Amino acid sequence: MRTHTALHVLSGIVWRDYDAKVTGGNMEPGEARMDFELEAMSAEFGREVEVKLNEALASDRPVRVLFLPRAEALADPDLIRTNVNLIPESVDPIRMIDIEGVDRQADGGTHVRSTAEVGRVLVIKTESKGRAFKRMRIAVG
Ligand SMILES: [Zn+2]
Repeated sequence: MRTHTALHVLSGIVWRDYDAKVTGGNMEPGEARMDFELEAMSAEFGREVEVKLNEALASDRPVRVLFLPRAEALADPDLIRTNVNLIPESVDPIRMIDIEGVDRQADGGTHVRSTAEVGRVLVIKTESKGRAFKRMRIAVG
């Protein structure tokens, strides 16, 4: 749950500050990777994101679960970025995870109740997997 919640905050920050969408990811307890539609990736970029990520986590934002009518979800630009339109049409309302000011997406998973519960996160690796395909690995301390 901590690792999953950390990924929400990571995706929200990279979207907010670098306009980059998440294109993939994988997670196991304590460690995860996330792929971004980014042209460049470097160890320096990883450190910058790590600082922002830990600041956001430490700000102790509540992780809220809400149910949004489908029509409303499809009209929300924050949700369009996470391809909310691909959720089967029969799903209405749509379950959402909202981390105030950081991330909002359709999600059926389990999370901690507040970002502070995640603890400290390290960016342990940054890799280029191709054009507009960059990968970041994190570890939850
Ligand atoms: Zn989630």
